[in-house]
Amino acid sequence: MTYNAFYGTIVHSISLNQLDIVCNGLLVVDNDTGSIVTMEREVEDVVKVLERLDRPYKLHRLTPQQFLFPGFVDTHAHAPQYVFAGSGMDLQLLEWLNTYVFPAESSFKSPAVAKDAYNKVVSRFLRNGTTTCSWFATIHLDACKLLVDTIEQLGQRAYVGKVNMDQNSPDYYIEPTEASLNDTREFIEYTQSKKTIITPVVTPRFAITCSSALMHGLGKLAQEHDVPIQTHLCENPNEIDFTCSLFPESKDYTSIYADHGLLGEKSYMAHCVYMTDDEIDMLAKHNTGVSHCANSNFSLHSGVCDVRRFLNKGIKVGLGTDVAGGFAPSMLDAVRSSFFASKCTLMAHRDRKQDYEHLGTAELVYLATLGGARVLGLHDTTGNFVVGKAFDALVVDLDSQGPVDLMGNETPLQMVEKFLFNGSDQSLAHVFVQGRRVAGSMSSP
Ligand SMILES: [Zn+2]
Repeated sequence: MTYNAFYGTIVHSISLNQLDIVCNGLLVVDNDTGSIVTMEREVEDVVKVLERLDRPYKLHRLTPQQFLFPGFVDTHAHAPQYVFAGSGMDLQLLEWLNTYVFPAESSFKSPAVAKDAYNKVVSRFLRNGTTTCSWFATIHLDACKLLVDTIEQLGQRAYVGKVNMDQNSPDYYIEPTEASLNDTREFIEYTQSKKTIITPVVTPRFAITCSSALMHGLGKLAQEHDVPIQTHLCENPNEIDFTCSLFPESKDYTSIYADHGLLGEKSYMAHCVYMTDDEIDMLAKHNTGVSHCANSNFSLHSGVCDVRRFLNKGIKVGLGTDVAGGFAPSMLDAVRSSFFASKCTLMAHRDRKQDYEHLGTAELVYLATLGGARVLGLHDTTGNFVVGKAFDALVVDLDSQGPVDLMGNETPLQMVEKFLFNGSDQSLAHVFVQGRRVAGSMSSP
């Protein structure tokens, strides 16, 4: 029955274009619920304010090199692919799946392989400040349950999906339609019964590996259990051609998901690099979100996604590391890759003598935090420091121990930018999820 109080600079996103930098801010967390109970700005006499509290508190005064920042939200990552992250980026999507991904994922049939890998990947993501992550697992029910258990133990907020594949997959990594649906149902019920901050998510790998019957069944399952849906969409030109050839009755790739009941306000689609205006309008109409996976789009040379097209239509957008199509498990890298993708788009527009605005700092912070929370439908729970939300937070520390050097005359905004572009996991003194410290480069506060 105590409070944790943080006093110092607090930085968070209010909206796409609004970065709120609070000086002498006071943020109080209820340690029982892990929720934010107070958030005040320009507090002069912090002890006087805290004396009004009805319970004992512990005050943490942030140093001038430190600031509070919301935990990162990664809207798209493949937990099993972490085993080869940083290797095998010589191929493009379909060849890459057959050569590296399917053999690696099939080894998760073994619980021992899954246990070791899942422990490593979730720990690594937390250390990098990813307090919320949307995970793809594999087709194996037991290993999927193991991932949920591991995440629960390590304390991350997560969406977890059992992957579905009943066609166009290798003999050693495929499942019959009925078994795929039954295992998905069991996985959803298993995860929901735990009553944690982990949510099951229906996860058809992509239309190529899913029969029409499977996709219809998954759409129904998602509806019955009121759970979200995640998948891939319009990532690579060869993938799009093959997909459309498999479902000639649908108008385009996006329509394939719509025609199978998989496009809705609880759905979010990774990549969306090659989308026609009609398809973008369809996402807007269904209030479906987009996960922008810039590192992966570069690494598998899929293409450069212009997220401005989605933002201009009011479509929900967040960032995804897409480990291991993306090689980096850090959302700081997702920010930097998105920045580069945006600059590439700017240069392409300039060559055509068209105006274009690249993503700015406020937008990048939004996409990596609150925007991702909106994509996952978690914007009332996490993403910034509004009273009532969970305390999912990073204590960023730019002291000389880490990779950033401060000259002493930086504005708070410049400190945020130095963190985004030069920081690392060493810059994260503490990582909190729902008020619980789950990682950090310093000893407990
Ligand atoms: Zn992916």
